[in-house]
Amino acid sequence: MGEGRRRKAAVAQGLMRPLGVTRDLAPVTRFALPPEIGQPTPDVAAYVQSLIERIRRPIRTRLIQASAQGETGRVVEEIEAIGAETIAAYEAELQTRERNDPDFVTKLQTVDCRRGCAFCCHVNVTVSVLEAARVMGAIRGGRAPDRIPAILATAAGIGGLDTEARHKVKVACPMLVGGACSTYESRPLGCRALLSQSAELCEHYFLGLDPAAAAPLPTLVTPRLVAAGFLSGQVAALQDLGLASHVVELTAALARIARDPTALPRWLDRQDVFERP
Ligand code: SF4
Ligand code: SF4
Repeated sequence: MGEGRRRKAAVAQGLMRPLGVTRDLAPVTRFALPPEIGQPTPDVAAYVQSLIERIRRPIRTRLIQASAQGETGRVVEEIEAIGAETIAAYEAELQTRERNDPDFVTKLQTVDCRRGCAFCCHVNVTVSVLEAARVMGAIRGGRAPDRIPAILATAAGIGGLDTEARHKVKVACPMLVGGACSTYESRPLGCRALLSQSAELCEHYFLGLDPAAAAPLPTLVTPRLVAAGFLSGQVAALQDLGLASHVVELTAALARIARDPTALPRWLDRQDVFERP
């Protein structure tokens, strides 16, 4: 049997090659930030780098240890723990900022987000593969309702639409049920970090006929900066391990995992399985 067929057979049996570091672990110097920040000052860049490094090694270590027995299922389970730990780190960082930044505290008091307000759940959501896998893990583990039919239907409707085109069609995220996120505990960083000071402007921006007229939205920068650092930390950890590390669109990635039971095992086998957003 050739190497390709051997690998395919192993993946089908839930087996994988243990993960290990495959590259020089230099600090990350290129990362995506919220557009309103523009070119980051040296202080902002250093802050984001510190966030990246804070989670990069723990994620890497967890994935390496979980893969040591060569079982894909064990790594997929570990992704839930990694997700929970990343969210805890994100929340702890925001609490630190609250303690040390009175301006942030004042801005938090003006946030207009509330349960049932979901204009922002009608756009592409950029996530890591780990975050998408965690949402699917919540569905399969019964921690979120089975939204797989909705995921597949939504993905079929918006498949391949870029950010701008998705914005125009205004199709809701398939995890949105009755105006609320049905995977609230497992929702990605990008969803958590969008805190707006005006639901009215969100409505204009996300659902309005002319979204550009309401931009830029009055959103809090600090949560988005922290989320960007932790998303980049996940990307860096995956890159360190030789896994396809690019970000993905949430609905598209969920549909891929739902449709194809080999998607995550093949990704863990270092294949580039998921479409780029
Ligand atoms: S970001 Fe805007 S649309 Fe989303 S919950 Fe907050 S106010 Fe509502
Ligand atoms: S995952 Fe939840 S919070 Fe994020 S877009 Fe979907 S419904 Fe909204």
